[in-house]
Amino acid sequence: MTRTTPPRPVDIAAVFPEIAPFARSATRLHPRPGTPGVHDSSVGGPLRWPADEPWPVCAEPHDDSGGFFQSVDAERRRRKIHAARPAGADFTPEQRAELARLGELDAKADSTSPATMMAVAQLYLKDVPGLAGPPGADVLQVLWCPRDHRPHHCPAPMLRWRRSTDVTDVVAPQPEPEVMSEDMYLPEPCVLHPEQVVEYPYRDFLPDDLQERISAWEETNRPSYQYELSLAPGWKVGGHASWSLGGAKPPTCGDCDAAMDMLLSIDSGEWDDECGPDGEGSWCPLEDDGSREYDPTKVQIGRGYALYVFTCPTSFDHPPKTVQQ
Ligand SMILES: [Zn+2]
Ligand SMILES: [Zn+2]
Repeated sequence: MTRTTPPRPVDIAAVFPEIAPFARSATRLHPRPGTPGVHDSSVGGPLRWPADEPWPVCAEPHDDSGGFFQSVDAERRRRKIHAARPAGADFTPEQRAELARLGELDAKADSTSPATMMAVAQLYLKDVPGLAGPPGADVLQVLWCPRDHRPHHCPAPMLRWRRSTDVTDVVAPQPEPEVMSEDMYLPEPCVLHPEQVVEYPYRDFLPDDLQERISAWEETNRPSYQYELSLAPGWKVGGHASWSLGGAKPPTCGDCDAAMDMLLSIDSGEWDDECGPDGEGSWCPLEDDGSREYDPTKVQIGRGYALYVFTCPTSFDHPPKTVQQ
């Protein structure tokens, strides 16, 4: 099934034609639970990773100040139990006993075990309009270390571009860490339904006079520029970042100082949990109208924030940076 973003309640470029040059395409990935394979684009699915290439292990220092660890395996089994429970029903005595056992597994989770990276996303260029890679590469693989890292208490992502036909023998089973910082860093296996949308910048990036005129317009017009007319929420490739936590400034490359581009947004929700005409709920795809499943990946960044992965426009070899907003 495709996913279709409803037209914006107001076309802001029709009201303010001078905003048109700031338009940028973003590709909403529209992840939904499924059973992706190594040949599919996915979130939380298996990567087409060569059997003879070492699986990465995080070498960054970890911020364990939260002091709370979980077993990845226990969390996966816990989600199955929750998913099997009919809406509104109590857990059976057997399910309660199993949940208690899983809690014990969490308590025993060994935070000194290797920080094996976890598969987060696999994006084939053929599936994701607007995604461009190094010459010859046709797939982007995103992994992260699901432990907190300084300074933002976030997972540390890693990008790997490759030519899929170079991979004949795929690693199996796919390695994963034993321990993670939070249950919120384990993505549910999801298939993708990419869709291109047009975005406009976060307000602070517009010329001052245009910002002022939009603010004045909002005083007598209902849709909010920030929430409904400019930036799509959810997992997306490209487009503009939202800077609602402040510090509106794209990072610069540590190797060459270039202003970096937003590659990927890893978001806590696909739209407001209230599907409807107000706020970000208007971004709920037509096909999902009425659905409460606004967080299909089950990934949560901080208190419902997004983790943006920025890359250098000069070289694919320059390391990415992340921003939490
Ligand atoms: Zn790490
Ligand atoms: Zn650079």
